[in-house]
Amino acid sequence: MTAHVTPAATITTVREWVESAKRVVVLTGAGISTESGIPDFRGPNGVWTRDPEAEKLSDIRYYTHDPKIRKAAWRSRLTHPAWKAEPNSGHLALVQLERRGNLHALITQNIDGLHLRAGNSPERVVEVHGTVHEAVCMQCGWRGPMLPVLERVRAGEEDPPCTDCGGILKSATISFGQALVPEVIERAMRVAREADLLLAVGTSLRVYPVAGAVPAAKAAGARLVIVNAEPTPFDRVADAVFNESISAVLPRIISGRESAARSLH
Ligand SMILES: [Zn+2]
Repeated sequence: MTAHVTPAATITTVREWVESAKRVVVLTGAGISTESGIPDFRGPNGVWTRDPEAEKLSDIRYYTHDPKIRKAAWRSRLTHPAWKAEPNSGHLALVQLERRGNLHALITQNIDGLHLRAGNSPERVVEVHGTVHEAVCMQCGWRGPMLPVLERVRAGEEDPPCTDCGGILKSATISFGQALVPEVIERAMRVAREADLLLAVGTSLRVYPVAGAVPAAKAAGARLVIVNAEPTPFDRVADAVFNESISAVLPRIISGRESAARSLH
């Protein structure tokens, strides 16, 4: 069943679906963060697509073997847009969804921590690609907050080693060439199968295994709502598709009539 009606005609319907759903699972990608000023690194116009040299900073093979790449990566972490970015109204709508009790889980491909910053609880958020807000040691597995490590970089350590074992530190994100954390991706798939409504936001749904959450939820009987600027391979099987601004659409399908009415004034 496909329902490609205009967004104007479906917004009320989708809002009712979301309100009556008991276990909404949200899957977010770069699109929700670009509206907070964080560039999409991997997309067609992404930073890495335009500058393959920059991509090496996030490739585990170069990172492990080349101190120059690590130094450049640390310099780039100092100025990561995540440090200054603020959650937008799309993020805030997802916080409201949780406060109302409808949010089962929020799976995100983003590493900027903006969902947590906005106020979603850590128990609900599944960061499948990790987070820039923590650092890990590649040797002993130490894990801790990123900011103190960045302070060391600012103080002159160009490639700060692990203070426990002297090993190589990196951000707690999944780099190119690194496997996803099996328990994390398994959890994402499990919550997707438990969903009664899957809301895919700002993701091309082309990166696996994460995109597999969509057919998993569909197969388990969930409704599928997609909000993304570009078409996705799952638009055909979606119950509603919005190719519009995320920060405009999410508050309208989540916040209920009152705030939707306010936004018209
Ligand atoms: Zn260590």
